[in-house]
Amino acid sequence: MKKIFLLGSTGSIGQSSIDVVNDYPHLLKIVGLSANSNDKKLSELGYKLDVNNLVLTGKDNSEYSNISSFGMLELLEAIKNSDADIVINGIAGSSGLLPSIATIESGKDLALANKETMVMAGPLINKLAREHNIKLLPVDSEHSAIFHLLENRKIEDVEEIILTASGGAFRDLPIEKLKEVTLQDALKHPTWSMGNKITIDSASMANKGLEVIEAAMLFNLDIDKIKVLIHPQSYVHSLIRVKDCSMYAQISAPDMKLPIQNAILYPELERVESTYLDLVGKNLSFTLPDLEKYQMLDLAYLALKKGNAYTIAYNACNEVLVDAFVNREISFLQIPYYTKIILESNIKIEPQNLNNILEIDKLVRSKTKTLIG
Ligand code: NDP
Ligand code: MG
Repeated sequence: MKKIFLLGSTGSIGQSSIDVVNDYPHLLKIVGLSANSNDKKLSELGYKLDVNNLVLTGKDNSEYSNISSFGMLELLEAIKNSDADIVINGIAGSSGLLPSIATIESGKDLALANKETMVMAGPLINKLAREHNIKLLPVDSEHSAIFHLLENRKIEDVEEIILTASGGAFRDLPIEKLKEVTLQDALKHPTWSMGNKITIDSASMANKGLEVIEAAMLFNLDIDKIKVLIHPQSYVHSLIRVKDCSMYAQISAPDMKLPIQNAILYPELERVESTYLDLVGKNLSFTLPDLEKYQMLDLAYLALKKGNAYTIAYNACNEVLVDAFVNREISFLQIPYYTKIILESNIKIEPQNLNNILEIDKLVRSKTKTLIG
């Protein structure tokens, strides 16, 4: 029986993770749950799943008496003190970083959906994972696909990896119409049902930008070995091309349950089944993303080229800008506009340790807010 601490239990990844655990009650058991502000749902999940260790990070009390602790520091302690074998990190945004570090430092395996962890602190996370000898298992569907395609293969034999992208809500919209789009338009994802932040990031392709950076950090790959193709059907989750030009793809229904179960049941994948995908009658197509239209994707490559300080900056300013877009303070096209200004500025701090990383994150957030005015 594998014991799981589920972070971000009230969100989209949280729900898919609970569905997986319910599919395998003889193999998996949740022993801890976290949420930020949704105490009602956290409390209900506690009763439903028979879990006592419930941590709410965004409030310091609650009317729901089964919630056991409050605040981020308490969550970090709860992760460290828990007897979980593996932690699923489904927290949205940069707040996922410290829980990832607490997981690794307490010797637990990490099933990582929170891509911000690698974007902000890839080199530090890889170093800690090695030192504490834990398994770092990607949950993001593209990275899960690549992780499994790379198994039993030497990374030197891989010529390139190809991350697929749905193209988001504006895939079929002409570029000149982007200046008119609204929040409601951006929230309509064609194939995946996910949290709001990642759905807006899919529309701008900042999500794919974050994933290019995540892939570079996770698999230790040079920037020119990471490609992106738009694949509207979202059946091929990613591909690798090896030296002899053969390509290998991972193909499955667009359902996050598969990458989640592949991470938490790893390496015992033979016990796992998933949603059946019938390929008959399906057309699979691939096109190059238009980098004029998807400037956030282009800017992610720029950030990666400039180094870890700029990948932290890319994520921090995008988070502030998406928030501002959600609050109707800026337009959709101002997201890449301000991101470019931030990435072209000079960041003098080197992200050598956690304090530096958090310092850069804070500095860029404040710079971005000043820019927006
Ligand atoms: P959601 O917005 O649906 O859920 C976010 C979860 O994180 C909620 O439980 C929320 O709690 C909690 N949370 C939010 N802010 C904080 C905070 N400041 N501190 C602690 N907890 C917080 O997000 P998703 O499930 O869509 O995404 C989660 C992560 O997984 C993201 O990094 C995303 O990029 C990644 N991911 C998601 C995919 C998907 O299919 N959804 C696919 C691949 C990756 P509360 O409900 O109380 O606010
Ligand atoms: Mg993804």
